[in-house]
Amino acid sequence: MTPRALASLEHAIPQPYWLDAAAPPPAFTRQVGQLRCDLAVVGGGFTGLWTALQARRRYPDKRIVLLEAGACGGAASGRNGGFCAPSISHGVSNALKRWPDEAETLIRLGRQNLDELQQDIEQLGLNVEFERQGKLNVATTPWQTEGLRALEQKYRRFGIDCQYLEGDALKDRLNSPAYSAGLYEPNYALLNPVRMVRELRRACLQQGIELYEHSPVEALLPRADGITLQTAYGEVLAQRLALATNVFTNLLPQLKSSVIPIYDYALTTEPLSELQLTAIGWRGRYGIADSGNQFHYLRKTADNRILWGGYDAIYPFASKLDEGLTQRPETFVRLAEQFFATFPQLGDIRFSHAWGGIIDSSARTTLFTGCSAGGRIAYALGFTGQGVSASRFAAATLLDLLEGAHTERTALRMLSRMPFPFPPEPLRYMAVGLAQRGLEREDRTGQRNLLLRTLDAFGVGFDS
Ligand SMILES: Cc1cc2nc3c(=O)[nH]c(=O)nc-3n(C[C@H](O)[C@H](O)[C@H](O)COP(=O)(O)OP(=O)(O)OC[C@H]3O[C@@H](n4cnc5c(N)ncnc54)[C@H](O)[C@@H]3O)c2cc1C
Repeated sequence: MTPRALASLEHAIPQPYWLDAAAPPPAFTRQVGQLRCDLAVVGGGFTGLWTALQARRRYPDKRIVLLEAGACGGAASGRNGGFCAPSISHGVSNALKRWPDEAETLIRLGRQNLDELQQDIEQLGLNVEFERQGKLNVATTPWQTEGLRALEQKYRRFGIDCQYLEGDALKDRLNSPAYSAGLYEPNYALLNPVRMVRELRRACLQQGIELYEHSPVEALLPRADGITLQTAYGEVLAQRLALATNVFTNLLPQLKSSVIPIYDYALTTEPLSELQLTAIGWRGRYGIADSGNQFHYLRKTADNRILWGGYDAIYPFASKLDEGLTQRPETFVRLAEQFFATFPQLGDIRFSHAWGGIIDSSARTTLFTGCSAGGRIAYALGFTGQGVSASRFAAATLLDLLEGAHTERTALRMLSRMPFPFPPEPLRYMAVGLAQRGLEREDRTGQRNLLLRTLDAFGVGFDS
């Protein structure tokens, strides 16, 4: 631990910058007593909020109820980096690797989803600091540079605009001794995740959706004509139920082995001056990510802090879900050290916030959907670190499923096939550890070991 990294964290507030910068949470209503509705949505993150909003668009007269265990956005949706991808498949390479036959469709639908998300933001007047300024992918090793060249070819094949950068061209976009090559893609967006949650929430309320917070659903009881949701203070009798609870799978135990919690962490700096930003050559407002298995993501906030997150991806034994694990000093120190190695020009900067959150990681690294209780319940989860935009797509699919409709979305194998299940403990912990060590080694050497190649052959992966 370097003294500089330690000192830089001395005053870091242990909560997401986004929350700290936002107004206090709005007043809420708790669900009490009994109520009936046409559609219940459980989960007040992006997936649940989009589901409720899109349901209102489809069914102007139906009674729609959303139930959230805590405050909307209290989980992953309010803690993420705000990278809003033109992808529903965790990127083009992942689509090609796992679903070569439907990759073209997945890529098209991912780009269309981002366009429509922007239209929704404009039409609904959501003030979410949405910026479509692109993303710079950077390489730190020769094999990552080769990877960027390969990605460039894939992008060209699908008509995706991109620009390969080296030397001065790269320095013009980002001046860091850590990076030797870059691939800039203009079609990528950023937003402020807490604002997005709050604005979606506001739009839901405006459109007559009944929204109950601090109202955990404790059990689901299927009935012949619907589902009864038992809540802490009452019950909701719903005809249909959309489950948008992400990594919290206790309401449908059959989902338990299909996702594991991966803890991901981030820091924000104090606001940077124009001089400091010029020193690192980061003039635009595009997001940046490096290309390793253990990667960093970095972006500017509205007030020009740098958000610097990623790298460590922590799996706790027995898939423990624990708010206490979202503060991890050793990861914060590692992130700070890596920040100073990446930007030696910013040696005297301090970090203002340090936080973590839980990613719902599926063994296929993408979301999946499905039904239960004879089609009366539909679920979507497994976003694996890329759910800011994909959650909107997931919401539309949930509603298709609950209607029993056959659409281009429901026909996707990526969505309809359950991912490979994670083994029970202690095998699970050992398997994740082995895979992580293999990924670390690949980052150091460029060599993919036998275990990872075998998992690849079975369509199994690990990411955050
Ligand atoms: C640190 C971090 C950084 C990330 N960065 C990015 C990024 O830059 N770009 C990107 O695309 N993705 C990113 N992600 C992933 C992204 O945030 C998620 O994929 C997305 O927010 C998932 O949304 P969700 O609504 O499905 O889940 P969540 O936001 O987790 O919401 C689920 C909600 O369900 C509620 N709930 C659970 N059980 C119950 C119950 N029984 N009753 C009532 N309510 C219940 C929970 O309280 C929670 O609010 C990141 C995630 C983390 C943690």
